Amino acid sequence: MNKEVDSTVYLMYHELELPGRPLCQNEPGYVRYVVKLKDFESQAQWLKSKSWRGMSVSEALSSSNKRGVAITFDDGCETDLLSAAPTLKQADFNATFYVTVAFLGMPGYMSRSQLQQLSNLGFEIGSHSMTHPYLSDLSDGALQAEIANSKNELEQMTGRSVEHFSCPGGRWNKRVARFARQAGYRSVTTSRSAANSSGSDPFCLGRVAVMRGTDPHRFQQLCQGHGLWRLQAQNLIRTTAKSIFGNSSYDRMRSLLLGRNQ
Ligand SMILES: [Zn+2]
Repeated sequence: MNKEVDSTVYLMYHELELPGRPLCQNEPGYVRYVVKLKDFESQAQWLKSKSWRGMSVSEALSSSNKRGVAITFDDGCETDLLSAAPTLKQADFNATFYVTVAFLGMPGYMSRSQLQQLSNLGFEIGSHSMTHPYLSDLSDGALQAEIANSKNELEQMTGRSVEHFSCPGGRWNKRVARFARQAGYRSVTTSRSAANSSGSDPFCLGRVAVMRGTDPHRFQQLCQGHGLWRLQAQNLIRTTAKSIFGNSSYDRMRSLLLGRNQ
């Protein structure tokens, strides 16, 4: 197991798929981020078999144990509690669940009491904003509300401090980092495919998406930080397209292309 010195990969998951259970959303751009539960279980087992630790973001930021990955989930789907939590507990892993406050109670997402259960199990709860907008499109006032109010609400619901934020749709800029720091967060994670080291800016941490169909060999490479350059090149193309066309035109093009490929 060679891994670049002093670097930790932060894995990014979303909803998990269980046989017979409808997903929160069905468009192709969403489904490609949905990992089957049995694949997630195999991934956790592989990490365990290598004596790697699955960590929360707080643990990863403070730990000198580099034989591990941070495990993160975005959005607050019900499968966080129903499927991910038992699998993680069985492996004795921790993880950070980034929750979108306005999604709580919607079909397929956790209820407020389920969020409390997840927190009471010892898992770390982070914020994924109030309403899941593209933060880079927002005015200062709206950005402040998304970042600070979600922190306050999640803290009231869980009774624990919420110290980590992840950007909806991966939209990050320096203004987001500044507002998050001012609101009292300790870190911001993006969707930039990079491993993090002790020298990384905690307000611009990379994360590596585990996608539907990421095969075991590829998963093992990702955990070791291998081949991230290819994902970074794809990210660069996407980021450039978003800045040229704007977020809404980019989304229309993307769903058109993905729809055709299905
Ligand atoms: Zn999201």
